[in-house]
Amino acid sequence: MSRRYNPGVMQGNGTLSKLQFCTSIVSSNPCNWLNPMTLTIVDHPLVQHKLSLMRDKSTPTNQFRQLLREISHLIAYEVTRDLPLELCDIETPMRSMQAPVLAGKKLALVSILRAGNGLLDGVLELIPSARVGFVGLYRDEETLQPVQYYFKVPDDLQNRVVIAVDPMLATGNSSVAAIDLLKQAGARNVKFLCLLAAPEGIARMQEAHPDVDITTAAVDDCLSDIGYILPGLGDAGDRMFGTK
Ligand code: URA
Repeated sequence: MSRRYNPGVMQGNGTLSKLQFCTSIVSSNPCNWLNPMTLTIVDHPLVQHKLSLMRDKSTPTNQFRQLLREISHLIAYEVTRDLPLELCDIETPMRSMQAPVLAGKKLALVSILRAGNGLLDGVLELIPSARVGFVGLYRDEETLQPVQYYFKVPDDLQNRVVIAVDPMLATGNSSVAAIDLLKQAGARNVKFLCLLAAPEGIARMQEAHPDVDITTAAVDDCLSDIGYILPGLGDAGDRMFGTK
């Protein structure tokens, strides 16, 4: 694997508000080179500041939830950046004009339970007309494979841009399994939105779903031996819901 960065962005010359790698992970499968995933890291100072507060273990549950809500607005702004616009005739109080509105494909947000719900709430505030789906998966302790326990999504996924949300892209197993299910249900245009990603999870996603772009606030160092992101922020669900 090798990483290819946009050098202008890496020098921090202020030309872009995001860090974008094109095929940041080049996999061993040559087919994937033809259809590179884009990894976008939202490096806006507000996002990074809020993320640092969330990482701090002394940040209490209520503040953690509030920060997640605020940060989800900011990263949702990036994940929707390339939605197509079309011109529509409107009348302002002053005169008529052609004004840009979102075109064509409608959105579906899909929360990967349970931690996905924390991101979902904030993204929905920004895109209140989006349809919403849920995918529930648990890890079989013997096989370590994700097992589906809940799946409810809009029935016209094939006509929608689907944004799957989960704060943590760790091993990538549950995210990849969730996107497998979404594609089986007809989704053709899927994006993945998370707060933190591990290189291992990005590689896994790139291998399984090279067509799925990832937007995240940060890429951390690695996974712990029990699959937690390091340095990470701990268990996102527990921190969000005050469970242990
Ligand atoms: N899920 C979490 O909540 N945290 C991690 O670090 C990894 C997976």
